[in-house]
Amino acid sequence: FLVGLVALVSACDAPDGEFESIDPADEAAALEIVDNLRLAGYPASEIEVREDGTVVAGGDAVVTLEASREMIGAGEAVDADDIEFRHYRSTNLISPSIDRICVDGSALTGTASAALDDALANYTDLNLAFDMVRTSGPAVGCDTLITIKLFDGSSGSSGFPFGLLPYPTIWLGDDIAPNFGAAVTTHVITHELGHCIGLRHTDYYDRSISCGGSTADEGDAGLGAIHIPGTPTTATANSSVMNACYNAGNTGQWSAADITALTTLYPKLLTPPVPSPLSKQSDVCFGSYTMNWTAQLGAAYYQLYRSTSSGFSSPVQLYSGNATSTEIDVPSGTWYLRARACNNYGCSAWTNQVAVKRLFSCN
Ligand SMILES: [Zn+2]
Repeated sequence: FLVGLVALVSACDAPDGEFESIDPADEAAALEIVDNLRLAGYPASEIEVREDGTVVAGGDAVVTLEASREMIGAGEAVDADDIEFRHYRSTNLISPSIDRICVDGSALTGTASAALDDALANYTDLNLAFDMVRTSGPAVGCDTLITIKLFDGSSGSSGFPFGLLPYPTIWLGDDIAPNFGAAVTTHVITHELGHCIGLRHTDYYDRSISCGGSTADEGDAGLGAIHIPGTPTTATANSSVMNACYNAGNTGQWSAADITALTTLYPKLLTPPVPSPLSKQSDVCFGSYTMNWTAQLGAAYYQLYRSTSSGFSSPVQLYSGNATSTEIDVPSGTWYLRARACNNYGCSAWTNQVAVKRLFSCN
């Protein structure tokens, strides 16, 4: 029974490769990436160049030429005192304007395919700034696309964001699902998606916490190792999906600290709820009315609009401010009123519509 022998498998081991089969242009790019990583302070021991010229940092993070150039430009220093056992992100994150990340899982079947669904649910269940949606290639509504490719092996790899977009490719070892099952495969896919949106290894400063063996530091200055506020100051094996190595006991579920890290990095930018109901005081005199609406948590201000058509065409603003009522005066005919709540991220949908009309006398 061999499970004991393979209980600790590096999620991040990359095959050692020969360098001579690379296209000269790719080789030049690879050399520049390596130079950039070294300039940025990344330890040589944590940089690998694969057979195809791909440069990998920290075991499983593919570094593109663009990303390596951004790293030097950013040059974010990390306080030496802050290198603790915490959750970390790279310097590069994805744009807050990305609402939908599509993930092409068409290469996956069976257990691996089901594991991808569970990994995507891990993200969508957190109600983050973006949704992750499974597709078979590019699709309408995708802001960006990550493609999952299988390769012969038992590790996973991906890369960090560049140009404010997620890294576009995940390589998933085809031995993971048959050897370790659904939960571990979900763990590995969730982990690689985490890199694509900027998460580093939680134990990056000492991979031996999850990988075993002797102390191994991935370095902090090259990719940036920026502590995510609110995450814990201790790390242990199995305490984070973003630990460097997986093992047969991984559940495929976030830890509480993982959830803190993600909801801190990518909070959903919420517009306030609709301040319904909108109501008027009973008809009293001529065109004077007091309009009331409901206070809503998260609202910075409220707006009241009127239209002269019941279909609410060409609405005109009557009020904008933080009160939950205002006086209006209808000069003639009938006004149709709706209110909404707003904050920095936008405005809610409209409330119910209330009709108010000019009276000829006081009741
Ligand atoms: Zn990793």
